[in-house]
Amino acid sequence: MTTDILTVTALKKYFVIGRTGWLKRRQTITVKAVDGVSFTIHEGETFGLVGESGSGKSTVAYTTIGMYRPTAGSIKFQGEELFQANGRRPLHLRKAIQIVFQDPGSSLNPRRNIQQILELPLHIHQPEKNSLEQVIHLLEIVGLPPEYMYKYPHMLSGGEKQIVAIARALATAPSLVILDEPTSALDVSVQAKTINLLLRLQREFHLSYLFITHDLSLMRNVASRVAIMYLGKICEVAETTDFFQKPLHPYTQMLLSSIPVITEEEAELKPKKVISTGEIPSPVNVPSGCSFHTRCPFAMDICSKIDPLMVEVNPGHLVRCHLFPQPNQETLISADERR
Ligand code: SF4
Repeated sequence: MTTDILTVTALKKYFVIGRTGWLKRRQTITVKAVDGVSFTIHEGETFGLVGESGSGKSTVAYTTIGMYRPTAGSIKFQGEELFQANGRRPLHLRKAIQIVFQDPGSSLNPRRNIQQILELPLHIHQPEKNSLEQVIHLLEIVGLPPEYMYKYPHMLSGGEKQIVAIARALATAPSLVILDEPTSALDVSVQAKTINLLLRLQREFHLSYLFITHDLSLMRNVASRVAIMYLGKICEVAETTDFFQKPLHPYTQMLLSSIPVITEEEAELKPKKVISTGEIPSPVNVPSGCSFHTRCPFAMDICSKIDPLMVEVNPGHLVRCHLFPQPNQETLISADERR
């Protein structure tokens, strides 16, 4: 039986930004970076969250780690609400969820050596333990020699910096690690090495991963389930095999049909070419109804008026699209009109 480690329900994160408009009047606009996202992560799995730039996937990560407070919705870690009523996160939950950022160059303090970088979370979360021993142990588990603790970030290669960032994430012995495009800033030659390290650490420490990327080919190899985001909402969630072999949402089909394939087997499984019809809308001005309707070759009248609900088409395979029967169209229309 699978146990859920993270449950995200109807999560919203809006940003209000100001700009100077006509006659220099100050205006505010609301950017709905994440708008009603729900998903669960099972213990020990890699859950992939994919999407184009601006889809809101990193905002989901930063809200889960506590860098942003959610506008609405709930994030539960092992059944416990992450944000208390005063907006704070209990210390034991902060320990349990860690993040590895995309750019190790900017996520490591250039004025501190590796020992100081790794000691910081240890001092906060495990002050009773000998931090020097812990630093040596952390370097050992990520495969770096102990003398690396005396180096500064500028003395390391990009891959080594990311390995230090991974070691820092492990310093608090977390259960869930958020990987925000962990290999996209690295040379191709070290990407595979970093992925192999992450997979080994997952097996050794029974870690769960929320893996964020725009690289669908990478997702195919590392994730057990995949969700795809478009303009702040999840359009489709499925087991990785179903996601790549039987994609249902036109947006997923469009992205998968544009991935280059090498083998004949991959070519057979590749969906027919789905050609996008319009421009990518701005997250500041999200289209009404289904936000993909301005680019969708299958768009119908209803699509621009009513935002479809997520429906489970096959066990574990959910899609948000009017091409699939919606639960209760009347309720849906009245709910949409009330907005
Ligand atoms: Fe296309 Fe309509 Fe489905 Fe949106 S709801 S993906 S516009 S068919």
